[in-house]
Amino acid sequence: MQAYLYVLSFLFGLAVGSFLNVVIYRLPRQESLARPGSHCPGCGTPIHWYDNVPLLSWLVLRGRCRGCKARISWRYPVVEAMTGSAFVISMWRFDLSWPLLVAWAFAAAMIVIAFIDYDHMIIPNRIVLPGAVIGLAASIAIDPSRWWVYMVASVGAATFMFALVMLWPGGMGPGDVKMALFMGAVLGVSVIVGLFAAFLFGSLAGVFMMAVMKRSRKTKIPFGPYLALGSMLALFLGEQITSAYMSLFE
Ligand SMILES: [Zn+2]
Repeated sequence: MQAYLYVLSFLFGLAVGSFLNVVIYRLPRQESLARPGSHCPGCGTPIHWYDNVPLLSWLVLRGRCRGCKARISWRYPVVEAMTGSAFVISMWRFDLSWPLLVAWAFAAAMIVIAFIDYDHMIIPNRIVLPGAVIGLAASIAIDPSRWWVYMVASVGAATFMFALVMLWPGGMGPGDVKMALFMGAVLGVSVIVGLFAAFLFGSLAGVFMMAVMKRSRKTKIPFGPYLALGSMLALFLGEQITSAYMSLFE
């Protein structure tokens, strides 16, 4: 594949990531995503376009507002870089195709959900519910003969998560159930890889937090970021991991 497609994917991902920062901040606060334009959280000064260039402006200004020198969180460039990277890996995995568009949209949604859940312990309905419906429609449009696979994966993943919520109340919540619905609609069979990876990452992080950071077992940790991480692994390597696993039994 031509290198310029990767460069374009990265630049497009940076621009989308810049918008995702706005969504992550404003959606849970019920603020408009369009207005007002970006402004400094410290002094309220509108941010000029040349101070709003993804990644570069933050680096040039060394993470401070040009006007009042208030710190701008390192998370802004990190979200941009993550989105840019996810868009490049999507291009590598799916080439120029309809699944590439699905992968870009899915990755963007997962990044938004991970950060909002981390900040507020909320998985927003306004993302996962339309995501599940549009994701299912897109999966079936791309792969019509296997329409039932995506329906079973979506409902199955949500049912599995619902059972866990019933068994361990206080652990996961209804948001995680709806997120599983979304994951299955897009990932199909690979949702198994996504859920398994999420539990693996979640347990490792839990052990780490208890052992190293001395958090108690009762500390509530949002599960959305792990589901998002597992989803990205499943999106990019789900088929390879599944077939490698199956080959163990041949
Ligand atoms: Zn300022």
